[in-house]
Amino acid sequence: MAKFREVPARSILSPVSGFLAQAGFTHSLTPARNCTFGCSYCYVPTMRVQGGLQRKDWLHWGDFTTFKSNAADLAARSLRSDQIVYCSPLTDPYQPAEAERRLMPGILEAVIGMPPGVFVIQTRGPLILADLALLRALNSRTVLRVSFSVTTDCEDVRRIFEPHCAPIEERWRTVRTLTEAGISTSVTLAPILPCNPEALVERAVACSDGPLVADPFHVRLVKRSGATTRAAAEGICHHHGWNQWLEPEWQREVVGRMEARSGALGREFGHGCAGFGLLARSKTVKQADS
Ligand code: SF4
Repeated sequence: MAKFREVPARSILSPVSGFLAQAGFTHSLTPARNCTFGCSYCYVPTMRVQGGLQRKDWLHWGDFTTFKSNAADLAARSLRSDQIVYCSPLTDPYQPAEAERRLMPGILEAVIGMPPGVFVIQTRGPLILADLALLRALNSRTVLRVSFSVTTDCEDVRRIFEPHCAPIEERWRTVRTLTEAGISTSVTLAPILPCNPEALVERAVACSDGPLVADPFHVRLVKRSGATTRAAAEGICHHHGWNQWLEPEWQREVVGRMEARSGALGREFGHGCAGFGLLARSKTVKQADS
């Protein structure tokens, strides 16, 4: 059973800077602090206070979460039609603890009441399907995109790096259900874990209808400062002989192979900041049939 606490927050919608601003977002909406998925590679705890965290969060990443108890009220008061909102860069809105607390329905109702120009939900949680009726309602009011993370096509790899996340097949079913419900759904291949790159792209194209977004592990060799891959994931790579997936040259090759396969299937593809920029666009670009 996931542990959660809750406290009233001063704000829920923050103007963005850096990566998200470059991608075209204006605001982020973060319903909680810390994330009970607790992925071994999560960059958020490496941001420490810059990520709005307290010491106990980065020392015990994934052990508990602290919900913003007044999230829906704050959202209702601070949303505007010209905002391009990313939910959420600092936690997964459908993390395991959300199953107990259910903060998202109230937030989505607030977003429906005052829809921003674009609303992007970044998640890996099949629990999102519990809010399908609300998502449909929001979809009729603004540009809604779900960006759903699937990081590998190998269940053994998934279990090692992200043991608290849903199995891959359940995630594909979730993506397909969202797509069939008329919600624009992208697959985020990030971070790219050891995988068969072409097979992963083929499955993503088959289940979704939005652009594919990819991002390898962030390594200090490439990203000199700011958020980076947690040491736990690097340790896993060293232990299992997967160091290649941390090497910039191999990462470029994998991203190139993904892009080529995606292009061959007629699906838009982006990586890094430009990839996330595809999610921030105010108009939905029709994809070729797949
Ligand atoms: S789901 Fe996202 S925010 Fe949560 S631990 Fe995993 S990578 Fe971090």
